[in-house]
Amino acid sequence: MLELGADEYAKYPFMADAGQYLKDKGFPLVKFGTDPDLKPSVEKAFHRLKVSTEGGIYKSELIDGQASKSYVLEIEVFSFLLAIVLIKLTGMHTLTKRFALAEARRAEQHLEKDLGKASEKSKIDLAIKIIHDLFGIEIIKRDDFFEIPVADYLKHSTSFHEREWKLINRYVKDGKVLLTPEKTVRLIRKELGTYIGSKINNAPTPPMIPGFENMVNELISICKKLTPSYTTITGEYPPCIKHAIEVLEKGENLPHSGRFMLATFLLSKGQSVEEIAPLFKNAPDYNQRITLYQLNHLAGTSGSGTHYSCPSCEKLKTQNLCFAIPECDNIINPIQFGKKRI
Ligand code: SF4
Repeated sequence: MLELGADEYAKYPFMADAGQYLKDKGFPLVKFGTDPDLKPSVEKAFHRLKVSTEGGIYKSELIDGQASKSYVLEIEVFSFLLAIVLIKLTGMHTLTKRFALAEARRAEQHLEKDLGKASEKSKIDLAIKIIHDLFGIEIIKRDDFFEIPVADYLKHSTSFHEREWKLINRYVKDGKVLLTPEKTVRLIRKELGTYIGSKINNAPTPPMIPGFENMVNELISICKKLTPSYTTITGEYPPCIKHAIEVLEKGENLPHSGRFMLATFLLSKGQSVEEIAPLFKNAPDYNQRITLYQLNHLAGTSGSGTHYSCPSCEKLKTQNLCFAIPECDNIINPIQFGKKRI
């Protein structure tokens, strides 16, 4: 395991071995339930989890990755580790997924900043080492860019569909791809979330800690409300959309064009990204993080901000996604189905 200082653990707390860290600090887990001096860490852990259930990224008290007082760093690390304990006590998978996603995005921000610190070689070296130790990617800093072997680049960019990620659109020199700090970190986004999720899954579940009961119950109740509400197929949906939903519900593969149609249709009907995402859960290649990223992209809430529209019936016919019935007559786009009748 990589040797880290206190401020690095605060930025990348998933690098710490939870049980060992608390033991080294001399705090038995059970003490956190009753000791008033340790209450701030517990409250922060609870807050950290709540923020993740709301789809946000927990904002720490670190300023530019540093803390003015050592206890702040300690609370940062404790709160992460205690959050894992709370997740385990709830037994809610939704909480694991939400927290892993939020913490991965938070770590991403720190890694990107550290890689971009031209004047602080130690920070850059450490960020490079973290990426190497966790994901086995050899990165070399060259001027303002980071060189990554083509093989590593291809391995980690396979799930990216945007044109800019195609190797042909990247600057390649001597078998290495040159990336900015932002793109370097983006490359490991998926793995970072998976890594944090696996750390949580592999952590042992402790017995209930006296003093944690209310928080655990509240988190369970929040998670129950987050349980995906499945979209009901109603008569208002046109056959192309019903068909796409059926394909996904059967766990079969829906082509990219079909997913695009379904997502843009439902977005245009006012459904939120969170409501639509569960529909893709049965897809053979489902990945929550990528699904949310792509849905946010289509909704215009991330990336360029462009809001994508549902393709026309004509276009869908050429993509073999149209299953027209008489009620489809006279419409030019699936979103008109049920509104404009003969
Ligand atoms: S005509 Fe349009 S709305 Fe009807 S099934 Fe085909 S694509 Fe869908």
